[in-house]
Parts: sequence; structure tokens; C-alpha cells
Amino acid sequence: MPTYKAPVDDALFLLNDVFHLDRYGNLPGFADASPDIVEAILGEAAKFSEEVLTPLNRVGDREGCKRKPDGSVITPTGFKEAYKQLVDGGWIGISASAEFGGQGLPATMTGLVMEFMCSANMAFAMYPGLTQGATAALAVHGSDELKKKYLPKMIAGSWTGTMNLTEPHCGTDLGLLRTKAVKQPDGSYKITGTKIFISAGEHDLAENIVHLVLARIEGAPEGTKGISLFVAPKILLKDDGSLGERNKVSCGSIEEKMGIHGNATCVMNYDGATGWLIGEENRGLHAMFTMMNEARLGVGIQGLAQSEVAYQSAAAYAKERLQGRSLSGAKYKDKPADPIIVHPDIRRTLLTIKAFNEAARALVTWTALQGDIAHRSDDEKQRQAADDHMGLLTPVIKGVLTDCGFANTVMAQQVFGGHGYIAEHGMEQFVRDARIAQIYEGANGIQALDLVGRKLGKDGGRAMMAFFNEVAGYIKEHGDEAMKPYVGPLGVSLGHLQQASMWFMQNALAKPDNAGAGATDYMHLFGLVALGYMWCRIVEAAQAKLPKANGSAPRYSAKLVTARFFMERMLPETATHLARIQAGAASTMELPDEAF
Ligand SMILES: Cc1cc2nc3c(=O)[nH]c(=O)nc-3n(C[C@H](O)[C@H](O)[C@H](O)COP(=O)(O)OP(=O)(O)OC[C@H]3O[C@@H](n4cnc5c(N)ncnc54)[C@H](O)[C@@H]3O)c2cc1C
Repeated sequence: MPTYKAPVDDALFLLNDVFHLDRYGNLPGFADASPDIVEAILGEAAKFSEEVLTPLNRVGDREGCKRKPDGSVITPTGFKEAYKQLVDGGWIGISASAEFGGQGLPATMTGLVMEFMCSANMAFAMYPGLTQGATAALAVHGSDELKKKYLPKMIAGSWTGTMNLTEPHCGTDLGLLRTKAVKQPDGSYKITGTKIFISAGEHDLAENIVHLVLARIEGAPEGTKGISLFVAPKILLKDDGSLGERNKVSCGSIEEKMGIHGNATCVMNYDGATGWLIGEENRGLHAMFTMMNEARLGVGIQGLAQSEVAYQSAAAYAKERLQGRSLSGAKYKDKPADPIIVHPDIRRTLLTIKAFNEAARALVTWTALQGDIAHRSDDEKQRQAADDHMGLLTPVIKGVLTDCGFANTVMAQQVFGGHGYIAEHGMEQFVRDARIAQIYEGANGIQALDLVGRKLGKDGGRAMMAFFNEVAGYIKEHGDEAMKPYVGPLGVSLGHLQQASMWFMQNALAKPDNAGAGATDYMHLFGLVALGYMWCRIVEAAQAKLPKANGSAPRYSAKLVTARFFMERMLPETATHLARIQAGAASTMELPDEAF
């Protein structure tokens, strides 16, 4: 059985010592998040994740969701009870606006709660995750009436939410979308069409499901400029807000798939379903993109979460499994063989994952903090800078954390040898579950294009320059002996990132294929620099803690060693990414299509 212990200490170290949450007491909701409250909340989230969600992970994988002939869907054994506990604990609305019943606590902290739940049971955590996404879109773009009708129930968790974008012939290219909306005299719309791959589209966890649907209003322009966003609940509401008749939206089937079996992935049929417009006509994609940053951050967290739980299981196994002797002489002479943790290759594997996880957690926390600033600060300039950060780092987090998250689950599986391939240890489930995060919420190739094609040049490169200046400024200010082993390599890699950015400016405008061919390398180069910067911030905080750390000293010393491993063994990959980018698109594009 896999082992999982939520990394509460690491989370608290990030919030208190690396990012100093206490310095943001002026932001709404932050004053309520005092260190002891945060510790208590994270402790409860850990308990719920470890004791309730972890045991259901395997059950969910084995049983999957089942669709009955009447179109209803049953979730795996135990999911309903766990969902009730989630709702009773108030977890869904933890960061939602107090105006609609939420607790208004910083999303910076909620990101960590989400990580714990996703590590414990990613398929389950998607149900509240999607609700939070749908809630965010309604909160920003919905009319006061829609907000009043839907938000309190969604924030309480009595109703869940979905996002309906994908159709059989259109995924990435939403401009091809065919679902139709026809305006009715009462101001509502009749929606007709088929959506596929809809996560949590139908289930038995909540009394209503609030679908957010992209559709084209009759007569609207072709392409992305004619798409609108609607809310269409599974069960229509009466005037007093109570549940009324069934709407004409139903689950046609559920997909057989590679992983996340506990989450129902549905074909949704809209047969003249009643819906209401969210925001303005033909501005549906704009409304959708408002919540995309948060949703993509959430998917990045899924990548990290699977990497973390796979790492913990692999580290525990490496200390138990006896095979061979250490190259430098037997270390456990009383045993018939040494545990495999003595072997450099196993340690390289474990450290690669550990060095990623701890920096990735910091990157998510830092970016979630920028999200809080962007939404809650009353200082316009501060809001804009934070929003720039979110826009720039979101594709990096989504793409890099899920690519590495998946690769790390495979590496952790390798630590188990053949036992990793056998279902009993649960390692193959982490591999299967992690894989989807690279695909949905915009496939990772699209994240890379978003970064290179849209985010780099946006507002004259303002966000990119702010990031470069921040990292360069940090390196300059931390050139002392203690920090040199860390900021030195970071400076080299920042140079690679700047050269790559310059190369795109000089070579991609006239030849866009150069940008397309180098985009994924650029995203990973950017990710490595961002993770390297996080390691420097972590080291700085750990060094400050060490003199008075007493019993916790090994924890902080481990940070310094892990950071050195990252700088020496992982960050140098930026040179390879730069070389690939500078090779341009010529060899990639030369072969005719028939040659493939
Ligand atoms: C389990 C699961 C759950 C999902 N949940 C939801 C959900 O809740 N709601 C929802 O609406 N959708 C959902 N999806 C759909 C998911 O978001 C899409 O599958 C995804 O966006 C990719 O779209 P596609 O499958 O049509 O691939 P395509 O768009 O056909 O892309 C195929 C490949 O081509 C690449 N590609 C496409 N266009 C370009 C381009 N212009 N340049 C370079 N490369 C390109 C892509 O990166 C991808 O690798 C889910 C999918 C799955 C499998």
C-alpha cells in the first residue's frame, strides 16, 4: 500500500519563513489567517486527506464510476460519505467570498490544502476542484441574480460545478464549436449540442450540478469571436431558488479511460436545455479565460501532488528493500543485503523528485500569493504586477509541473523495480492518474505556445522583464559566500533564459515556426529558472532558521543539500534547452508530411 503523509511542516515553512504571509495582513482575509489558524487548518486538511481520502484512492481506481440505464452515475464506494465530510468541514468555500458563505481565507493556503487532497485522491479532489473553478467564473462574470441563485449552494458544496468546453470535433481549437444557443422571450436560452470528456458531468455526490457551457448564439460570428458562456443546471430552480424540474441535459455515457477512474468523465447531451448567459454575448472565451489561470494552477498542483505521493512511497520502499551491497562497502552488515537507498542511482532518482517537489511547492505558493494580491489588493500598481506574474507563470506551472510530475511518478515506480508495475503497491496508479494533467486544461504543447506566443510579448514584454529583473536583482543582492553556491548557477541559467528570449525576438517574428519548434524547450527552461529561484529563497530562509533550529536542524540542513543537488544536477539542463531553441525549426519542418 502506498504511504502518504501530508507535508504540513514544509507548507508552514513556506508560508511563514519563505513568503512571510504575516506581511500581507492588509489584504482582506489575511488577518484571519494567523500562523496558529493556518497551522490548525493545514493539520485538519492533512488528517482528512490521510485518513479519509487516501484509503479511497485504490477503491476509486478499481471500481470506477458506473452509469445506470437512466443516465444517472454512481461514484465508487465511500465517495459519497467522504464528500459529505468535505462539505461538513466547509472545505469547498474556504477561500470563497464571505458574501456568499465562503470563509474568504487566502488562496495561498488553499493551494496547499488542494495539494494534500490531490496527493491523497486526485479523482475525488477533482469534484470540489471543478466546483471552485465554476464558482470563480460565476463570481466574476455572472449577474447579481445568477450569483445570488447559485453561489451560496456551490460554495457550501450542496451543488457541484462543471466546465463544458470540449466537443467531439473541437478541443484546442474552440473556434470550431457547434453547440447552439437560441434566445427565448423570457431572456433564457435553449442550448443544443454534445459535449464530451466532461469531468464530474454526472454523479451522485450532490443534489444539483451546475454546468457552465460554451455555446454559439444563433446568428453569432464564426470562430472564437462568436462564443458565449451559459449556466445550465441539471435541475432547474423554482422562483424561490428551490429545486424544480429536471433540465434537458443528460449524461449519454461515461468514458473508459487510463486513470482517475473515480472521476466520472461524461458525454453530455444538451437537448434544448435551458441556460442563462454569463457575462456578455460573444465574450464567453474571455469569461472562461478569467478562471483559466486558477484552473491551470490547480492542474499544476495535481502534477506536483502525484509526484509527492509517488516520492513518499518510493522513499519508504528504498529504505526497506534489500538488494546488493553499497559500492563503497556493506552499510548494513547485520542484514543479508543493503537497502537499495544506499545505491547512488536510487538516491539520484529520489533526489531528482524531492528537489523538484519542494521547489515546485514553493513556486505554486508564491504564484497563489500573487493571485491573492491580484484579487484583493487595493493598490492598482500592486494588482497589475501580481496579475502580470500570474499570466506569465501560469502556463509554466501548468506545463512544467505536470510534465515533471508525470515523469517523476515513472521514476518513483522504477524504484520499485517489477513491484512498481504490479498493482499491489499502487505505483502504477500514480503514473496513470498523473498522465491526464499533461493533457486537459489545454495540452502542454499549447501551454508552451501560450507562453512564447502570447505571454512573452504582452504589454511590450512587461511581465517577462519584471520576472527577469526580480531574479537578477535577487542574485545581485545575495552574492555573499553562503549564497554563492546557489545564486551562481542561477545566474548562469537566467542568462540562458534571457538569451533564449532574445533569440525568439530576433528569429521568431519573421519565422513563427521557430517559436513553435522551441516553445516546449523554452517553457522548461523558464520552469528550471523559476524553480532555481525558489531554491535560493528556500535556502535563504533555511540558513536563517539553522542557528536556532535545535531539533529541526536536520530538516533545514537537508534543504541546503537538496538545493545543491538541484543546482549541480538539474539546473544545468537549461544549456541543453537553449541549444535546442537556437537550432531553430529547420530540421523539424523539413520533412514532407508523407515522410512521417
Ligand atoms: C479525462 C479527461 C477529462 C477532461 N475534462 C474536461 C472537462 O471537464 N471539460 C472540458 O471541456 N474538457 C475536458 N477534457 C478535454 C480536454 O481539455 C481536451 O482533451 C484537451 O484540451 C485537448 O483537446 P483534444 O483532446 O481535442 O486534442 P486536440 O485539440 O485535437 O489536440 C491534439 C494534439 O495536437 C496539439 N495541438 C492542437 N492544436 C495545436 C496547435 N495549434 N499548435 C500546436 N499543437 C497543437 C495538442 O497540443 C495535442 O497534443 C477532458 C479530457 C479528458 C481526457
